[in-house]
Amino acid sequence: MPLYDQEALEKFRLSGKILRESREEMRGYVRENMSVLEVCEHAEELIRKKGGKPAFPCNVSINEVAAHYTSPPGDKSTIPPRSVVKIDMGVHIDGYVTDTACTVSFDPQYDIMVSVAETALQTAIDTIHGDISPSKIGGAVETAIKNRGFQPIQNLTGHSVGRYQVHAGTSIPNVHQTTFGKLKTGEIYALEPFVTVREAGGAVEDLPQKTIFRLVKTKSTKNADAKQLLKYIEENFYTLPFTERWLQDVLPPSQYKNAFKELLATKAIMGYPVFVEVTRKMVTQAEHTVLVKEDGCTVLT
Ligand code: MN
Ligand code: MN
Repeated sequence: MPLYDQEALEKFRLSGKILRESREEMRGYVRENMSVLEVCEHAEELIRKKGGKPAFPCNVSINEVAAHYTSPPGDKSTIPPRSVVKIDMGVHIDGYVTDTACTVSFDPQYDIMVSVAETALQTAIDTIHGDISPSKIGGAVETAIKNRGFQPIQNLTGHSVGRYQVHAGTSIPNVHQTTFGKLKTGEIYALEPFVTVREAGGAVEDLPQKTIFRLVKTKSTKNADAKQLLKYIEENFYTLPFTERWLQDVLPPSQYKNAFKELLATKAIMGYPVFVEVTRKMVTQAEHTVLVKEDGCTVLT
């Protein structure tokens, strides 16, 4: 039995089309000194206007920050001059998730690193097919990056996507490492190499800051405000990641803060830490979502 029926695949395809158009518009939209909040909101608005829903908040990760930064409410940060900006976006149609990213460089010195991430992604796309081991894709990506004088971030991976799932269980490494099992024809994967300079540590670590959150489980809470907030999260995002920006109209500001704290404290929700390169070196990224075929793949984004 196929993993997804025709109706589900059509929803993945529509999700991917909306995301592709949105990514290309964002690539030309982001500018030095622009407010990061404006970039995030514009990306999410584009997705909604085209009939999709954001599968997660738009990530705008700058320079040595590799992933998982989205503007918190009222964010005052701006795109620094001569920076390297990763824009990572997701769309879902009825829960069917696609995920894509591009890097925009405002420093010509890093243009090559942007194109190496794109080449590494193309290598993964050219390598993937049904019944391949994820470690083979990782090996091909690692070689493509190292041959060009750079190195992959070893602890960030691609991943299977599914219905209401951004990370559906299987990882695709960006280095040659032992993995178990094989990819199946009909599965859908996000491929996403991250590239840094040869002198870097080549890995990311957590920052204390968390700007993206996800429902863990709906448990009963005595706090009525927390209960209302949790109900809103469950009904609107289900198991998909969200930002506090999307919760600002649920409760009066005076009650919101404590309700949100309560949900974190009781582990009804969890936060994703911002990822930064361990030696604080520049990071670039490229990402597409693909449908695995017996003899290759179809790029959905
Ligand atoms: Mn992504
Ligand atoms: Mn991804």
